[in-house]
Amino acid sequence: MLIYRNNLELQNETLKLKKTGKSIGFVATMGALHQGHISLIEQARKENDIVIVSVFVNPLQFGPKEDFSKYPRPRESDENICKDHNVDILFLPEEDSFYLKDHKTYVTVEELSEIHCGKTRPGHFKGVTTVVLKLFNIVEPDRAYFGKKDFQQLVIIKKMVADLSLPIEVIGCPIVRDFDGIALSSRNKYLSPEERKTALAISQSLREAANRIASGEKSAKVVYDLIFEKLSNKENLKIDYIAIVDDYNLKTRENLDKNTVILIAAYVGSTRLIDNLHLEDIL
Ligand code: AMP
Repeated sequence: MLIYRNNLELQNETLKLKKTGKSIGFVATMGALHQGHISLIEQARKENDIVIVSVFVNPLQFGPKEDFSKYPRPRESDENICKDHNVDILFLPEEDSFYLKDHKTYVTVEELSEIHCGKTRPGHFKGVTTVVLKLFNIVEPDRAYFGKKDFQQLVIIKKMVADLSLPIEVIGCPIVRDFDGIALSSRNKYLSPEERKTALAISQSLREAANRIASGEKSAKVVYDLIFEKLSNKENLKIDYIAIVDDYNLKTRENLDKNTVILIAAYVGSTRLIDNLHLEDIL
C-alpha cells in the first residue's frame, strides 16, 4: 500500500493511473475506521482496479463549538485496517497544507444543505462538499462510495455531482450496525456505557417504525408520533429532529413509500448521533 500526504504528488499518481485505463474507486473518511468504513472499502475493492482511501479530519465541516480537536485520530490502526483490506493508496493529507493558507473557494449545494442537520450545524455541508470536491479533483475517481448512514450527506453529494457534471458515479452503501442495532460511528467512542444503552433507543425506534410500516402503515404522522413518543421520554436523550422526507429532495412527506426516508438526529449526553431508515430497504 502506498501512502501519500501531499495533494500534488497524489494527483500526479492518479493522472498516471488514469492513462493506463485503470478504474479508481474512492472512499473518503475522517478515520477512526470501523466496519462501516470497511464495508465501503470492500465494495470499492470489488468494483475497481485501484482503491484509494482518504483519512482527513476536515476542519471546514466542524462548527466552532464542535469536536474537531477531540475527534479520534488513531492513525496506526487506520493504516493497518487499510493494508488488511487491500487498499492500494492511502491518502493522509497534512492538516496544515491540504488547504492553501489563503483558501477562499467553497462549493455549496443550496437548500439541501440548510435543512435537517444543516440547520443544527450551519456551514457543515458547505465544508463537506468543498472537501469532497477537492478530494475528487485530486483522486479523480470513477466511482465514489458513501454510507447511507449519513443520508443527507449522500443526497447532497449526489446533487453536487449531478449539478456540476462531475464524471463520477456516487454509490450509496448500506448502514452497518453493531450487534445490538446501533449504527456504527466513530463518535460512538464518546459514549459512556450508560449513554450507549440510552443511544440504543434511536435504532430501536427505527426498527419499531420499520415493523409498523412493513405491516402496512402508510401515514408519516403515525410513524412520526411512534418515534417521538419512544425518544421524547428517554432520560439523557434530546431529540434534535425527526424528519420523514423524500429521499431525493429531503422535503417532508405525508405518505410513506419506497422513496421515503426517516431521519433522526439526537443528543445523548453531549454526543450528537444520527441514524435513519430508508423505506426502500424494507418495502
Ligand atoms: P466519516 O469517517 O464519519 O466521515 O465517514 C466516512 C464514510 O463512511 C461516509 O461515507 C459515511 O457515511 C460512511 N460510514 C460511516 N459510518 C457508517 C456505517 N455505520 N455504515 C455505513 N457507512 C458508514
